[in-house]
Amino acid sequence: MKKRIGIIGGGQLGLMIAQAAHRLDAFVTALDPSPDAPAFAEADARIVGAFDDLAALERLCEASDVVTYEFENVPGDILRHLEGKYNIKQGIAPLFDSQDRLREKDNARMHGLEPPRYRAVPAMDDVPLEAEACAALTPQARLLHLGMAVGKIGMPCVLKTRTLGYDGHGQAIIRSVEDMEKAADLLTVPCILEEMVDFDFECSVIMVSDGKDIIHFPVSRNIHREGILDLCIVPASGLQNGGGENDLCRRITASCESFMKSCGYRGILAIELFVKGDRFYFNEMAPRPHNSGHWTIEGCTTSQYMELCHFLLGLPLKRPELISPAVMKNILGQDLDAAKTVVAESLVGAGPGIEVSASEDVDNAFCGEAGKGVYVHLYGKTQSRPKRKMGHITFVPMTPEQYYSVWAARFV
Ligand code: AMP
Repeated sequence: MKKRIGIIGGGQLGLMIAQAAHRLDAFVTALDPSPDAPAFAEADARIVGAFDDLAALERLCEASDVVTYEFENVPGDILRHLEGKYNIKQGIAPLFDSQDRLREKDNARMHGLEPPRYRAVPAMDDVPLEAEACAALTPQARLLHLGMAVGKIGMPCVLKTRTLGYDGHGQAIIRSVEDMEKAADLLTVPCILEEMVDFDFECSVIMVSDGKDIIHFPVSRNIHREGILDLCIVPASGLQNGGGENDLCRRITASCESFMKSCGYRGILAIELFVKGDRFYFNEMAPRPHNSGHWTIEGCTTSQYMELCHFLLGLPLKRPELISPAVMKNILGQDLDAAKTVVAESLVGAGPGIEVSASEDVDNAFCGEAGKGVYVHLYGKTQSRPKRKMGHITFVPMTPEQYYSVWAARFV
């Protein structure tokens, strides 16, 4: 009988988990509030339900031998209830720890990773105010709280809501007193104020652990625009020397692995970091496949989705090897037409060894054969908007120099 995987969340990550699960002959059920969620196109069974709808979540769990999540904001009390009854194999601890930026950074520090300097705000005698107390603050009190925190952290700094922020939402950069006045509006909810790291570059480490073995994917150098991931470049320049990974890269991956082990997490974990000189700072973590790991589908001998499924199904983990240099471009709403043009032109022979495959052909890339091409993944979202993630393109083999000279101009 087929093993049954349940996925909480039906976005593009769920879609790509389901594609990998099908390659391993598993039966997939996905739950999402939106009837046209991307993963529903691939899943064998669909449950339309809200992430706080306990009955719907229970139906998903009942229909599955093992459950995973690609959505991070399922309420904690519901998660605890589900964990007690069903096989949520990663457990809820990494999800719970990542749901609140304050808890997440305290936890990173406790387990050996260094975040940028941060403070909870509003706070009274260093004790963070609860949500109700924040909501009751007057505009003047909010500004006062922020002023005190900025006095301790210094400018420039970044104010972020502790929960429910993503892709730059719920964030304000503070470089001046005027910025502070605008940013103080965020303080109707609990926030965290961080020093602004003048980093050389950002990178991410994606790991999978089955509790015994731990693997990590080649580190990706990540370029964000307006708080949203734009490009991933692998191998990550700045983390290489002539012969492969440099000492800094090895320190980064060793620290991330040691963090994951120390926390006792199992399953998949992505950690985003800022690199400055020979130091690195923990930014955030996600206990699910990560946008900065999409390129592993074609650029690696095994993908982040496949290794998550190996973990879920109790199969041995496979150590990923880079096939060739890769670049991943996120396709946001404003780039969708350009991405469709790439597919329509079917640019076979556009450059040495460059072929275009639409998403139907992407399956081939899971075989781990030397990937070569321009792999366009469109997620099938029915509504496109600027800044909404609509797809991605992975270029293999591709150096950043080639990308910038041949491809970059096509996109907004
Ligand atoms: P986040 O949602 O916290 O990952 O923030 C989105 C992006 O904003 C990051 O990938 C960085 O490019 C930038 N950013 C966030 N926090 C900081 C910080 N403390 N210092 C410098 N840049 C930051």
